[in-house]
Amino acid sequence: MHDIIIIGGGPAGLTAGLYAARGKKDTLIIEKGIEGGQITETTGIENYPGIDQIDGAELGKKIADQAKKFGAKIVMDEVESVDLTGEVKKIKCYVDDYEAKAVIIATGANPRQIGAPGEDKYKGRGVSYCSLCDAAFYEGEDVYVVGGGDSAVQEAIFITNFAKKVYIIHRRDELRASKILQEKAFNNDKIDFIWNSEVVEIKGDKVVNELVLKNNQTGEERSIKSDDPFGIFVFIGYVPNTDIYKDQINISEDHYIITDEEMKTNVTGVFAAGDIRKKTVRQIVNAAGDGAIASINAQKYIDEAEGNLYEGFKK
Ligand code: NAP
Repeated sequence: MHDIIIIGGGPAGLTAGLYAARGKKDTLIIEKGIEGGQITETTGIENYPGIDQIDGAELGKKIADQAKKFGAKIVMDEVESVDLTGEVKKIKCYVDDYEAKAVIIATGANPRQIGAPGEDKYKGRGVSYCSLCDAAFYEGEDVYVVGGGDSAVQEAIFITNFAKKVYIIHRRDELRASKILQEKAFNNDKIDFIWNSEVVEIKGDKVVNELVLKNNQTGEERSIKSDDPFGIFVFIGYVPNTDIYKDQINISEDHYIITDEEMKTNVTGVFAAGDIRKKTVRQIVNAAGDGAIASINAQKYIDEAEGNLYEGFKK
């Protein structure tokens, strides 16, 4: 049995692992994909303190290496079901089953889909949710980015390194993105905006070559069609994947895990950290902060449950 199992290897999970392993707890991080999680698909992070600019994949690897240096183990596996209500926390995965004294859930969230006809059909054939993975396919072509938040604007700027022109399609007439990103986008000659518009349908042959938009002010529909293939990159926020926890852990109406400020859930010995948690600000730096807080409190919980003085207080 492990002391602490952390589900999810993004900034929150890896930081939790770093703190737990450094606190001399037997620490296992379960990650279904790449170490670093969602941030590995992000480029040009310039607001992580102490680092001028870094790509997400590199930052993820740095935190993972730091956690491993202190003895955290990272396994690639995917959680199928959990039994968290007892003293021993049981986690059933596709490859193996695991047990721990405390669990930290840090599985973040998945990209939200538009839900328009054609979106699923053309995934990977024109529709993408990852500019780092797919922008290079659109060298010299047009690209349409859907969304108006930090992700949409930041990724649109990145895509201009490849595309001939990038059109940001937003459902309102002003962006949600931070002012500094807005300024960069407004000053970029390769970026244009299609305001008050929603994607109604995505069409094509083998790959996408038509996009139907609706102006939500006038109701007018128009089709953008091209002989050349073009890309549609969707960045309209994220949806947390809390289905497997919802029968055991308190979840908000919008599906996020509810914690207190110590990252404790309603279940003893179970903590949550990062984007999966109900909160208002979702940045890498506070995901890491959540991870540290969850880890310190998970260690404290184990030490107290075992009748010991919390290790952290001895130093
Ligand atoms: P977000 O801030 O939730 O923005 C989502 C955007 O998509 C909004 O503009 C929203 O429109 C639009 N949208 C939502 N649902 C839609 C739908 N069904 N159809 C069309 N448009 C839809 O998500 P995000 O940009 O992915 O950012 C997530 C979090 O990460 C935020 O906290 C953000 O600040 C953070 N982040 C930070 C950075 C950075 O600091 N550099 C970079 C990336 C992300 P409305 O505006 O009309 O609601």
